[in-house]
Amino acid sequence: MNRETGLSRLADEAFDVVVIGGGATGLGAAVDAASRGYRTALIEAGDFASATSSRSTKLVHGGVRYLQQGNVGLVREALRERSTLRRNAPHLVRDLAFVVPAYSRVDLAFYALGLSAYDLLAGHTEFPRSRVVSPSDARALIPNLAPNGLCGGVVYHDGQFDDARLALALARTAVDQGAAVANYVRATGFAYDAGGRVVGVGAIDAESGAGFTIRARAVINATGIFADVVRALDDPAAPPLLAHSRGSHIVASSTALGSAAALLVPKTSDGRVLFALPWHEHTIVGTTDVPVEGPARDPEPSEAEIAYLLATVNRYLATPLARSDILAVFAGLRPLIRRGAMSTARLSREHLVEVSRSGIVTITGGKWTTYRKMAQDAVDVAARRAGLAASPSRTASLPLHGATLAAVHDESLSEYGTDAGSVERLVAEDASLAARLDARLPYTGAQVVYAVRNEMARTVEDVLARRMRALFLDAGAARAAAPRVAALMEAELGRPVTLLGPPR
Ligand SMILES: Cc1cc2nc3c(=O)[nH]c(=O)nc-3n(C[C@H](O)[C@H](O)[C@H](O)COP(=O)(O)OP(=O)(O)OC[C@H]3O[C@@H](n4cnc5c(N)ncnc54)[C@H](O)[C@@H]3O)c2cc1C
Repeated sequence: MNRETGLSRLADEAFDVVVIGGGATGLGAAVDAASRGYRTALIEAGDFASATSSRSTKLVHGGVRYLQQGNVGLVREALRERSTLRRNAPHLVRDLAFVVPAYSRVDLAFYALGLSAYDLLAGHTEFPRSRVVSPSDARALIPNLAPNGLCGGVVYHDGQFDDARLALALARTAVDQGAAVANYVRATGFAYDAGGRVVGVGAIDAESGAGFTIRARAVINATGIFADVVRALDDPAAPPLLAHSRGSHIVASSTALGSAAALLVPKTSDGRVLFALPWHEHTIVGTTDVPVEGPARDPEPSEAEIAYLLATVNRYLATPLARSDILAVFAGLRPLIRRGAMSTARLSREHLVEVSRSGIVTITGGKWTTYRKMAQDAVDVAARRAGLAASPSRTASLPLHGATLAAVHDESLSEYGTDAGSVERLVAEDASLAARLDARLPYTGAQVVYAVRNEMARTVEDVLARRMRALFLDAGAARAAAPRVAALMEAELGRPVTLLGPPR
């Protein structure tokens, strides 16, 4: 995947479909359109998945919370997509066991009933079914679970993934399927024909400052929390579709749970659920739901959210987490479909496809888990409106870049799937690349070089936050690794690199 090639194609070729936004939804739309045989382009203003799509709770799930809310249709669809994604990206999606602890017999029966409904909705699936376990079995699964008054628990299964790496796999799949793709290219406006129909997207390459027009018969706006901002470039009077809410997470060492299983806190003080999850040898605790005014590029957790997360999870831990145990924090904004003045905790995660008078198709809302279905719906509408030759979606059975069921020789590279050998070959050529970037992190110099050569990494943050997940796991260790990452990137790119991207 090469940025220069992508850029020159964007400026020179005429496309059937151009997608704005390189998060889960936009990248999914590019894969869908390109694999149908449409000439496809995608631009992303920052780095791939740099907005909401790298800041999720990392679950490929139906959503037990939505089941609690009675949203059976959404849960069934998401469970179907859970299986599809695990099948198409087995190197990035894994099965995770969750323990729901119960401190009364009534609660235990209630959770068991709810989760058997979840099993039923999942239908025939490779994820194991839920089961009731004794207090000692629950503590064998999560050694740090608070024992006092524990009546038992229910164990159920869902998928877990690496969101930013899945986004990269999608970008590379789109390129494999023939799409022209570039990060750090922002859509700044639209081109129209004499009848007012959209025929292109005005774009700026943030690195060079060069502006150009991408010609296309169909335009898909998949800019997530920024969807209304991009709609306003087409129609400043368009009424907003979205409300926004912040979800925050804290990250601690793996000893917080001391297990390979996750903990689901079934009832929080604000009527939600909370997860504590093992992820990349650490523990993620999240999330919150705080309504915010509008979209923001780098949302941060408030002190109140951090205190709430600690207090809520500590009610369930034998050895509580202290503020000083937190190694990193991260927050994302949810693009929620606006419906009157309901509280954002109640709004549905369902998606929406809207077509503007000029023909721009906006796809927003939804979840990471349902990105493929969202993308399919958006491309269906865009192709029909633009009069493209009918071609059915192929993504339900399209393996994503790197997909393999085979065990990878070096287990720490398993998320690279079939590309793991290419990372290992870099070490064979230059043994110094085998050294870890920091003793606290599992990442090596070879992964930095690979990210620049093959994954369009342009800044130190691209590498530390999304090609590897250092910034999400241990901010101090990531900061310590930054100079070495910068030196390796500068040698590859032949120019100075910045920590963050160019001004956007
Ligand atoms: C806290 C939290 C936890 C979540 N947890 C889960 C979970 O566990 N499982 C799950 O299934 N879902 C989860 N979700 C939902 C999921 O993360 C989102 O639904 C999904 O990432 C949205 O993807 P997107 O592509 O629509 O938006 P985004 O990821 O925001 O992508 C939009 C992209 O458009 C780009 N862009 C904006 N303007 C322009 C422009 N002018 N030109 C070019 N590009 C532009 C942005 O830079 C951005 O990268 C969670 C969400 C949050 C907030």
